[in-house]
Amino acid sequence: MNKISILGIFVADISFSGNKIPSVGETILGNSYNVGPGGKGCNQAIAIARLGGEVNFISKIGKDDYGQLAINTLDQNNIDTSTIIQSADHQTGVAGIMIDKKTGKNAINVITGAPSTLTIEEVNKNIEKIKNSKIFLTQLEIPKDVTLYTLKKAKENKVLTILNPAPASEISKEFYNYIDYFTPNETEAEFYTGIKITNEKQAKEASIKLLNLGLKKVIITLGEKGLFYSDGNEDIYLKATPVKAIDTTGAGDAFNGGLAYALSKNKSIKESLSLANQVAGLSTLKLGAGNTMPYFKDLLNFQA
Ligand code: ADP
Repeated sequence: MNKISILGIFVADISFSGNKIPSVGETILGNSYNVGPGGKGCNQAIAIARLGGEVNFISKIGKDDYGQLAINTLDQNNIDTSTIIQSADHQTGVAGIMIDKKTGKNAINVITGAPSTLTIEEVNKNIEKIKNSKIFLTQLEIPKDVTLYTLKKAKENKVLTILNPAPASEISKEFYNYIDYFTPNETEAEFYTGIKITNEKQAKEASIKLLNLGLKKVIITLGEKGLFYSDGNEDIYLKATPVKAIDTTGAGDAFNGGLAYALSKNKSIKESLSLANQVAGLSTLKLGAGNTMPYFKDLLNFQA
């Protein structure tokens, strides 16, 4: 049993690339724009499916054009959509993304729409899918009570859980009891620990603080600097994949998808981190989020 369940959101990413990210009150003439699939949950599902993993995506969308984009995208990527709730009363989510063409860095405003109304009852309709999975992966883009409930159910059923605590926001102490892997990026890690992370030493300090909260395994992704892992006994630091990043939107999602995939295939922690690091690096080579997730063959080609 290698199945993976994801609870999260789909949004249509509308991205604008320019020579800078405009400041407040400023207008710039950009270079290009793109409309494509996004939302952390959906991006992570695509990353897993393209690597060859078996994944279902529990989410809610509207009955509108962007909802259709969601269904088409999931179908094209062989993601199980039987767990998607389509509601005529709500809009599908959208995200406005500003990208600095020179650095690949971004600023994002997400309107989650339909999934902000997801309920525990709706999740319960798909609880068998979660129980029959090896891995449960989620983020902080849907209502917290639903996220906590589902993490708890997953753990009760001996499913390995990954919380990608993004976007950073307050979570109750109870969450920490039901998380096997906690995967913040450096900004999120700073939010949860108060430690600003610019190097490996600070990443280590932050991980100690997180482990003291009761977390079992912490992975702090460090953007172009790579990642830091600790379970309190073993520390692993990996440098980022040497690529020339064009757009880092969704890099964290590629990482989380790659991690879930590798763990579902019983790979060791070192192998899993290394695979996820490569998937994330390769995802930065194109403009967009969901559509930039690499395929398994891309990893093989890159190694060659
Ligand atoms: P997020 O996308 O959530 O902000 P990060 O920026 O930390 O997360 O990136 C997640 C992972 O993506 C990193 O740990 C690294 O593996 C990869 N990555 C991000 N930026 C780059 C880059 N410029 N070059 C290579 N890999 C990158």
